[in-house]
Amino acid sequence: SQTRRTPFIAGNWKMNLDHLQAVAFVQKLHWTLKDAGHETDTVEVGLFPPFTDLRTVQTLVDADKIPFALGAQDVSAHDSGPYTGEISGAFLAKLECRYVIIGHSERRQYHGETDEIVASKVAAALRHGLVPVICVGETAEDLETHGASAVPVAQLEKALAGLASGSEVVVAYEPVWAIGSGQAATADQAQEVCAKLRAVVGDALGADAAARTRVLYGGSVKSGNIARFMREPDVDGALVGGASLVVDEFAAIIRYQK
Ligand code: PGA
Repeated sequence: SQTRRTPFIAGNWKMNLDHLQAVAFVQKLHWTLKDAGHETDTVEVGLFPPFTDLRTVQTLVDADKIPFALGAQDVSAHDSGPYTGEISGAFLAKLECRYVIIGHSERRQYHGETDEIVASKVAAALRHGLVPVICVGETAEDLETHGASAVPVAQLEKALAGLASGSEVVVAYEPVWAIGSGQAATADQAQEVCAKLRAVVGDALGADAAARTRVLYGGSVKSGNIARFMREPDVDGALVGGASLVVDEFAAIIRYQK
């Protein structure tokens, strides 16, 4: 894996910040990074606001040439039709979303998303030219019974089954026990699982894809621990929840090299 992968720092806002708060937040983040002399091409920054903010944020980043990529937090497995409350990947693509989070543990836990649903959503995202950010991770109970990697490896195998070789995806390893708990995995733990997930990408999508694919760590990432994760060879970025909602904290995570 000699291919250089652009680090990816992704902010998952979850159900936080309405579209007015989003404008203030995005402008403040942009200016904070500018003031700090942040070089925008060193790290890709992705923002994942609620659906109702997407149009507003898209208009803002477009008008002010703000170098943040936009993504949604979920997508329908269907393309259009009688699916009340669902959002099509076609709509997201029209809004210049580049990414969509799929299979976040909160959706698996609270919305009954199975590996089959996750796989069909990954396929839907790719049909519409979106890059799926596929989330996998073990619960505390899984960790006790099967160790760290068995569940995320199996989840990723199912999410990638049947995809065309070379498909572009991002993988996020998020141990459920680390999400919102203040208890991040150690860098060693993250590296071990992320390396195995990269091997799964290789088996499913080919060696080139494995070398190109960004594998992120997520779960209680903060400005104080990001650098440790980024030092690991198979960790290419972070999916950040709580700390992505605080401008100075998220800016410091983006500037982890400083
Ligand atoms: P956290 O959430 O950073 O608040 O732990 C991460 C996530 O759920 O993506």
